[in-house]
Amino acid sequence: MHERTLAIIKPDAVSSRHSGEILRRIEESELRLIAVKMITLSGDDAGGFYAVHKERPFFRELVNFMSSGPIVVCVLEGENSILRWRGLMGPTNSEDAPKGTIRGDLGIDIERNAVHGSDAPGTAKLEIDYFFNATEICAPVEALP
Ligand code: GDP
Repeated sequence: MHERTLAIIKPDAVSSRHSGEILRRIEESELRLIAVKMITLSGDDAGGFYAVHKERPFFRELVNFMSSGPIVVCVLEGENSILRWRGLMGPTNSEDAPKGTIRGDLGIDIERNAVHGSDAPGTAKLEIDYFFNATEICAPVEALP
């Protein structure tokens, strides 16, 4: 399915200067980058974004982490972009994620795991709308001949 997904380069990866490496992996994949910006979330912004996790024991820590420094939010488009991006990311816990995945190569632990990706079409739409308005999302740019 041709679809969009939200990707976030989290504060750990931005502060370790891995943003460029992560964007490079996106651009070398089949995914097309159609929106990107660097922002810093307030605690309320981060809490709103992760509202589905508000009953989880790690919610407060997660909100503190996600509002601890700048993040890079991106919209990716392509065939099966949701699963494709989650494949490039690797599993949640960076300590178990295989080498070759972003979380395995660049993340630190179960919380500081370098990147976020939407998990389904419904959440992808909600998450993209949380950060971007329509004028900030571009048509895919084709490679020059
Ligand atoms: P994801 O879809 O792979 O990002 O995983 P989840 O939706 O389950 O969790 C959302 C985010 O919460 C993860 O990416 C981690 O940053 C963080 N997280 C997940 N599990 C834990 C945990 O047990 N402890 C802490 N501190 N953070 C966690």
